[in-house]
Amino acid sequence: MKYLAWIHAYVIKDRDFWNMEGGASLSWSFNRILKLRNVAHPVLSNGASTIREIWLETRCKESKVLWHTLIWFPQHIPKHSPIAWMALLDRLPTCDRLLRMGITTNGICVLCNEMLENRNHLFFDCPIASCLRGKIMLLIGLNKNISWEDMVNWACNSWKGKSLISTILKLAWCANIYVLWEERNRRIFKGCSKTVDDLLNSIKDYVGIKLRGKTINRIDYVNSNLCTSWGIY
Ligand SMILES: [Zn+2]
Repeated sequence: MKYLAWIHAYVIKDRDFWNMEGGASLSWSFNRILKLRNVAHPVLSNGASTIREIWLETRCKESKVLWHTLIWFPQHIPKHSPIAWMALLDRLPTCDRLLRMGITTNGICVLCNEMLENRNHLFFDCPIASCLRGKIMLLIGLNKNISWEDMVNWACNSWKGKSLISTILKLAWCANIYVLWEERNRRIFKGCSKTVDDLLNSIKDYVGIKLRGKTINRIDYVNSNLCTSWGIY
């Protein structure tokens, strides 16, 4: 706070911080701060007031840019993307959120009937979700046992480009979220259920049908295996 008072007294003086001009009379670092005003202003006007809130708001915007390419890529399946997007933003009406809003009194996950249903549990930690993910990874030829956050980071950093494996990873990730959300709703609203293998077959169909007939370099060993595993003819 002492530093801020010093800045006010000796640098900003009687000028308005939001409208003052930079220049050679100011230090390099203060000129940098002035250049960041257009980034800071929308964040502050959103109601963020503490450094933590400002950091969270800025970080969330950065993440949204990265997530966008995981969900809205050229071959995306239109009915899957909105659900996957809502899941990434943690905006789906999962039981933990309904409990907080006072809309429900039962927060138990209908897939395992054991734990509180929240985003990370339903799509990741639940034994059903975990088993399904393991089977998907096996079909892709990968073995990963990581948390939701690590998975999202890994996806943002690695599922880039137009390779067959990154396209399948993105399609399967969105389809996985979609079928789990559909299964959760089926159990709650229709009182019936599907097995993990049924869900896996749905995901395989979505991915396989989407990529069937596309130009793929099948001489490549990895691609050839992926085509066989996912039923891409
Ligand atoms: Zn569960």
